[in-house]
Amino acid sequence: MKPIIETKTNVKHQVVCIPGDGIGPEVVESARSIISAAGVSIDWHEALAGKQAFESGIVSGVPKETLELLETTKVALKGPLETPIGHGGKSANVTLRKHFETFANVRPVRELPGIKTPYAGRGINLVVVRENVEDLYAGIEHTQTPDVAQCLKLISTKGCEKISRFAFGLAKAEQRGRVHVATKANIMKQTEGMMKRVFEKVSDEYPDIDGQHILIDNCAHQLVIRPEQFEVIVTTNMNGDIISDLTSGLVGGLGLAPSANIGHEVAVFEAVHGSAPDIAGQDKANPIAIILSSLMMLQHLGEWQAAARIRAALDAVLNSDVGWPADISAGRQVLGTAAFTAEIIEQLDEQVKTEAKAQEPWPIPERSLEVVSNYPEKEEVVGIDVFVSFDGSVSVLSELLDEATQGTFYSLKMISNRGTMVYPESGANPDCVDHWRCRFVLSEPIPKLKVRLIEPLLWRIEGNGITWMHLEKLHRFDGEDAFTKAQGEN
Ligand code: NAD
Repeated sequence: MKPIIETKTNVKHQVVCIPGDGIGPEVVESARSIISAAGVSIDWHEALAGKQAFESGIVSGVPKETLELLETTKVALKGPLETPIGHGGKSANVTLRKHFETFANVRPVRELPGIKTPYAGRGINLVVVRENVEDLYAGIEHTQTPDVAQCLKLISTKGCEKISRFAFGLAKAEQRGRVHVATKANIMKQTEGMMKRVFEKVSDEYPDIDGQHILIDNCAHQLVIRPEQFEVIVTTNMNGDIISDLTSGLVGGLGLAPSANIGHEVAVFEAVHGSAPDIAGQDKANPIAIILSSLMMLQHLGEWQAAARIRAALDAVLNSDVGWPADISAGRQVLGTAAFTAEIIEQLDEQVKTEAKAQEPWPIPERSLEVVSNYPEKEEVVGIDVFVSFDGSVSVLSELLDEATQGTFYSLKMISNRGTMVYPESGANPDCVDHWRCRFVLSEPIPKLKVRLIEPLLWRIEGNGITWMHLEKLHRFDGEDAFTKAQGEN
């Protein structure tokens, strides 16, 4: 098959440019001037977000005009954004991520020439694909008792399917042979387990790619011991947040780490680092991360040839001894942002013959119109977990709750404190807090649990002087329990 290499230098691309805060304008200008010198024609639509937006009273940190521009161009190159102290409760980055549902955060990690790290010479070349919307980052938190706060870890089949499909599609496009899914499925069987199960299902559709599961803690360990074994790692939001910073550290740090935030319609390309206010405006910023991000953008726009040429020019400069940005100079000759950029531009002429590697664009899974992707055939409820706030001993609590079940369809099966079963007595002796999960099972499973079947129990619990905070139905989907047992429960 003929390689798909499209060079679109005769096309004028429309791209939103958000220079951002701190060192943002300096590094974004560096990337833009290199792209322009490489002959790519772009209409840059400069737009505001971040510090200035917050200071002018826009609480989301992103003006409506910026969102509208991005809705039109679908592509943005973005500098880092600050949330100034005392302004807005939200981060402008999160606003953009949520508004455009950029569900995939892509962080390629490739060893760069001339960068001194303990891993130099080992050929690290991997991509972390992080689910970017769900998980603990949905930001749903409640302090439920005077002593205990909760953050909901929301994971959906749909979210897992999209990110798994994206990771396999990326691997196929980049001719990579292996994708790892990194989860904590051994502990969080419902949420992280869902990611593992869905990944394994999607993996069957890609027989030529080796899909493997690895526990996230082992993944972190293996990344430090033998990072070259990884090609693509797909993972849930929080795991991805942590390991993608770890992997950036392997090849020289955040100053070199590019990223792409991919949504169904919109893609935002940015460096991983922040606005570095300590060096802003001093010509000291390392522009490599945003340059590498802009290369991902060029590939997204179909400008494979220009991207390959800029990469070759960057590699050539790093391989030479003209100088390095201060943060990676390691005692060698230092070049300021502008001078380093000028060296790359000068190298572009030497690299005109660079061949782009055959590659397809990353396929982006379609937005599905269905809210639920996998309805069970049979749905039952076997009971409820009632979470109560109680400042007393478990023996008193269990007596009061047991008494509350009299005359209802429920029996008290178990009480746990932060996941450890304390009733019936299991021998465990946790240092209890005022937050208890009380599991009540129905005398027999029912298809739907109506309010009128819950109310009498809650009234009786309240009547016994116990404050309930929230409850969870105990579902069984297609015969399988859709809830976990407490430590010690059988
Ligand atoms: P930071 O990444 O800005 O800085 C951490 C350290 O790394 C500093 O010493 C800085 O000088 C250095 N550094 C970072 N990028 C560099 C570069 N390109 N060249 C040379 N040195 C570089 O992290 P921070 O100090 O925690 O955050 C500063 C601000 O940036 C905060 O307001 C934060 O919210 C914001 N931030 C934004 C983004 C984003 O927009 N994607 C990401 C992270 C932080």
